[in-house]
Parts: sequence; structure tokens; C-alpha cells
Amino acid sequence: MNIPTELPEYLQPLGFIDGQWCAAVSGAAFEVLDPATGKKITSVPRMGESDTERAIAAAHKAYPAWRTMTAAARAGVLEAWAASMRARSDQLAQLLTWEQGKPVSESKVEIEYAASFFSWFAGEGRRIYGDTIPPHLPDTRILVMRQPMGVVGGITPWNFPSAMVTRKSAPALAAGNCMVLKPAESTPLSALALAGLALEAGVPPGVFNVVTGAREDAAVIGETLTSHPLVKKIGFTGSTVVGKHLMAGCVDGLKKISLELGGNAPFIVFDDADFEAALAGAMICKYRNTGQTCISANRILVQDSIHDRFVEALTARAAELVPGHGLEDGVSLGPLIEPRALDKVERLVADALAKGARLMIGGNRHSLGGTYYEPTVLSDVTPEMDITREEVFGPVAAIMRFSDEAEAIALANDTQYGLSGYFYSRDVGRVFRVAEALETGIVGVNTGLISTEIAPFGGVKESGIGREGSKYGIEDWTEIKYVCLAGIGEGS
Ligand code: ADP
Repeated sequence: MNIPTELPEYLQPLGFIDGQWCAAVSGAAFEVLDPATGKKITSVPRMGESDTERAIAAAHKAYPAWRTMTAAARAGVLEAWAASMRARSDQLAQLLTWEQGKPVSESKVEIEYAASFFSWFAGEGRRIYGDTIPPHLPDTRILVMRQPMGVVGGITPWNFPSAMVTRKSAPALAAGNCMVLKPAESTPLSALALAGLALEAGVPPGVFNVVTGAREDAAVIGETLTSHPLVKKIGFTGSTVVGKHLMAGCVDGLKKISLELGGNAPFIVFDDADFEAALAGAMICKYRNTGQTCISANRILVQDSIHDRFVEALTARAAELVPGHGLEDGVSLGPLIEPRALDKVERLVADALAKGARLMIGGNRHSLGGTYYEPTVLSDVTPEMDITREEVFGPVAAIMRFSDEAEAIALANDTQYGLSGYFYSRDVGRVFRVAEALETGIVGVNTGLISTEIAPFGGVKESGIGREGSKYGIEDWTEIKYVCLAGIGEGS
């Protein structure tokens, strides 16, 4: 196995403010652990209010010069940042797996996905077009322009420690804003690696700042960002409960906020589906990242006539997964991020079994110990079970049975969440009917993989507000200004 012994040379285990590596004002630090072994990787600063204020001040200072650069010049910096990432992709993937646990093959995909946001938004930043509107008065002209907002805050989760940082920072910076980022406490190193590469790419000091903190510091850092008058917008990816809390914190200053929150994705297999494709899609959509994504298949709905065959086939596939350290060759399922996550998976499986679910495979902590959980398949799952109401965030497939399209849609929409939904069907009429009926921001038809920088990612209902990625994703980081130009006169 290839567990690194030291951090890459471009990254220091410190915060990153105004282009400088720095300790917390308090001098305190907390440990970052390898979730697969529980061993310490390094310590990073426990930053708080004054560190966050310092980062905001640095971003504010950097803003006038950054916003007045041409979009093409900013694009050049973002392209250089992407190139630095791609040149180091193996090392970045290794670091990501070390602190997060996912198989390194998945980390490599994530690093390319993360870099793609810089490339994409380097282009989109050059296309933040305005408008002219036929005027309401003869001597008047109406112009509409999109402008950057100023200092913006980003708060990111641990399940995609690199891509969630770039999915926010790339559009924010491309539009001319300066960012203060708080990465998740479990996975700050991938964000700090990006900070180190920012230096190399020529990102000016203060344009991108990273404030690290332990779990206990998150609320203070969050409050400093939401309450500070210089911070104009917050972008958050994480749990619905924290998202709502941050939104409440934005009320006083009427601060804008984008939220990418929890999901409860239905994955529907109709009896006219390509069976093998649906099986492959379910595997990747359920077990990728050990089920720890907000777009993971949370409820797998299978039509009566193919139900038993599908359950059997999925169980056989789940048995082929290889749990282990993500840096080990051949491993396809990493550990869960932390003991708290393991407790949740155990609670949800126990509740389902107590209410009549059938255990097809797994159902226990894995013999590897730590936070490993066995790849698990449950059938006969019903809406009364907590596992259909909460995000599992673990390697547990919960299979429900349905008889017709109307029942599938009703079951799928029976949740307060609305991030992604998936279904498999070869019937073109059904494809349109179901895609339109699902109450989600994202629909995968005949695929379990929908993430790409070129498409809008985001949810409806309690899964969030706003979109990331695509041409739409940059709009959330700009403000519209209407300029009314009067006194044009009639000329001679
Ligand atoms: P999870 O339960 O998956 O860790 P969270 O929503 O708790 O999801 O975490 C996502 C991000 O939000 C992390 O960076 C975390 O530190 C941060 N966070 C957690 N609690 C708060 C809070 N009260 N205020 C601001 N950020 C928070």
C-alpha cells in the first residue's frame, strides 16, 4: 500500500490568508485523521472569529484589483491553477484518499472534476454578458450589467474535498469576487493543497483564503461569515440542518446564500429498462464514495415483474465489492468518514430490519474494524422505515417494490428533499412523463452518474437554493445592475 509519509511540498498544514500560510491567532490546532486507520496525518490550525475577520479583510483588500482585471486575465490565472492541479493529479488524488478514504481511482476522477470547474468558469467568466433594453423615454438608454459582489464566503463538506471547493471558488473568482473558504474539518488538506497551487498559479494574495477549524469552531467561523458586513454572499454545501441555520444567519444582513443540501434520491427501475444497464447504474449510484454523496441512490424502487431478479443480481454485485484502504490496489469500497457516520448507518439498518426489511447481504460492521461497514442490500423496504426518510450516507441499498408508474412517482416524490432522481426505461413517452414528474433539480435517465461541470447542479424543496456548474452557476456569484442613462439628446 502507498500511504504517503509526508505532505506534498506545496502545502503547509496551516491556514492560508492573504497569500501567506498562518497559524491560528489562538495558537490552537486539531488533528486530521486517516479515516481508514484512525491515525493522525497532521494537525491544522483551529481558527476562529479573529482569523476569519483577518481573511475577510485580506479578501476585501484584494478585491479592487481583482475585479478590475479583464475577465481574460482572470481566466488565465484560473487556467494556470487548473494546469497545476492536472500536473499533480496523482499526488492530489493520493492526498484526497488519505484524508477522505475513497478509493484512489475515485479520487483521480474527483481531481479532474475539480480542475474542470476552473477550466469551465475561466470560459464562462468571459461570457458574463449584459443587455440593452429598448428605452421607455426617447432621450434615455437602458443598460444592464452583471457585476461581482465583493467578498464571498464558501463552506464545503468532506465527501468531495477538492471538487466542492472549486465548484464554488471557480465561478466566484471568475466573476471577480474574492473568496474566504472554510473547508470541512475532516478534510482540510485538499483545500490547502489548492491554496498552495494558487500561489504557484499566480492567484494574487487575498483572492483565495482558507480558514481551517475543528468541528467546534464551525459555528463561530460560519457566524463571522454570515454576519460580517463586508461578506456579500455565502455558498454552502452540506447538511440541510446546517444550511437552514446559515440561511437564518443571513437574514439580518439580507445576505445572499446558495445552498446545496441533503438529498433522498429515488432510483427507479421500470420493467422495460435495460436490466444490465440499470444494475450497473445502481451499483455506481449507490456504492460510489461508500454511498456518501448527496446524490447517492437512497431508495431503489423496482417494478414487480423484475423485482426479485434485480434484488438477486444487485446482491451478487454487492458481494463483489472489495472494502479496504483506498490506497490499496483493487479496493472498491472505502471506510465511512467517522464513527458518527457508522452509528447512523447501524441505526438505520436496525430500524429497517425491526420494521420488516429483509437482509440480503451485509448488515454489520466490517471485520476490517474502524469505520468500515459491509456492503449491504435490504429488500422489502417500506416508507415507514427511517432509511427511506433520511440520507443513508453509507453502503446500504434499500430496495422498495412498486407496481405501476403512478405508484413509482408517488413513492419517489414522497420526501421533503429534491436533489437528484434517477430512472431506467426504454419507453420514450415514459421518459418524458417521469422526468417531468420527479420533484428534483436533477434527473438521470438511464444513468446513475450525472455530475459534470457543464450542467447545472442543485436541488428543489429542502435540498437547496441555486445552481452550481454550467452557464447558470456563475449567475449566483454576480449582481445585476441597471444603468439608466438619460439626457442623450437628439443630436444635431
Ligand atoms: P456533515 O454532517 O456531513 O459533516 P455538515 O453540514 O455538518 O455536514 O458540514 C458541512 C460543512 O459545514 C463543514 O465544513 C462543517 O464544518 C460546516 N459546519 C458544520 N456546522 C456548522 C455551523 N453551525 N455553521 C457553519 N458551518 C458549519
